[in-house]
Amino acid sequence: METVADFKEIVEVIKESGGDLFKRCFQCGLCDVVCPWNRVIDFSMRKIVRQAVFGLTEIESDDIWRCTTCGRCPQKCPRDVQQIESGMALRRIATEYGVFPTPVKPIRTVSASLVGEGNPLNEERKKRGEWAKGLSVKTFSEGMEILYFPGCYPSYDPRAKKVARATAAILDRAGVEFGILGPKESCCGESIRKAGDEDLFKRLARENIKTFIDNGVKKILVSSPHCYHTFKNEYPEFMVDFEVIHMAQFLCQLMDEGRFELKGEYKKRVTYHDPCYLGRHNGIYEEPREILNKIPGLILKEMPESRVDSLCCGGGGGRIWMETPKGERFSDLRIEQALAEGAQVLATSCPYCITNFEDSRLTMENGEAIEIKDITEIVREVIEGTEENL
Ligand code: SF4
Ligand code: SF4
Repeated sequence: METVADFKEIVEVIKESGGDLFKRCFQCGLCDVVCPWNRVIDFSMRKIVRQAVFGLTEIESDDIWRCTTCGRCPQKCPRDVQQIESGMALRRIATEYGVFPTPVKPIRTVSASLVGEGNPLNEERKKRGEWAKGLSVKTFSEGMEILYFPGCYPSYDPRAKKVARATAAILDRAGVEFGILGPKESCCGESIRKAGDEDLFKRLARENIKTFIDNGVKKILVSSPHCYHTFKNEYPEFMVDFEVIHMAQFLCQLMDEGRFELKGEYKKRVTYHDPCYLGRHNGIYEEPREILNKIPGLILKEMPESRVDSLCCGGGGGRIWMETPKGERFSDLRIEQALAEGAQVLATSCPYCITNFEDSRLTMENGEAIEIKDITEIVREVIEGTEENL
């Protein structure tokens, strides 16, 4: 952990930045009851808020980096403390003072890669469109109906790329006129903002907004609920207003319009995991279920913690870049919940969830008993009659 130069100054900043929010707390502890961290370690948002009231938050403690911004506790808080915003305020202060979560290296590498290449994965910007190799995907040009913005993980990560490819295949089959920006696309910035680097978020947002405007973009289709959230709810802070649609919504629309034929069957027992940023943060619960219910042969089984009570996969708030030791992973718990329902497939609609669940599946003893799928991959498989093997 790095040394804090002027602790007194930090105390003052904490008081100023989150002061009003923190002071509303009357220490009821309801946030700790619902927080998924308490299933794996001893963690208290209530305690963090209490310390912040007195300007005493242990800014050097790794606890301030734990919150995944899952959105579960703000819904229960009787005093509207807005734990996510309060927590982000603390992280911003820490970041400004050069204090980072341990180990420091991953977040530093992420930031450097976002600055240099526009993605957190240390990949080259010029390779951003390579996921579409072999598919008839065009570069976006003015007048096209839709910009498809796959985001960082579906652009580069070998597993998540399958989601981008499935999306492109479905759009193609449905006759949608769409294009991508390839190397001109930059990370949306949502997660680095939640991790406390406000300046970098603004820089990425401005880059994307300029590119959208320069290229005449009006409607943006996304695969990631994190891109969805920031484009829809945070980019308007820059006085812009693009039409944003998540693939779960668009796919549901395309199916309603009968834009493609579902030739095959999917004879599997499936359970659906609501990603925090699609569900709790943006209220999109029905469309993914409507899609799955329309697939011939598929049996949809709900887990008890679903919709507004969905259990976080552990990937929000920048946690996707931080190491979470075995035994502390919510994604392991979620897979256990899916298996308890007898599910053969755990379906979701977020690249972070896919990444975390696949990691868990590979390291869990009974992981082989379940497949992890994005809903677009399931639909693609039913349309094409085969699974894509990259
Ligand atoms: S937002 Fe979620 S992870 Fe963060 S403190 Fe609240 S319940 Fe815990
Ligand atoms: S739920 Fe709200 S009021 Fe209760 S302890 Fe948590 S932050 Fe404080």
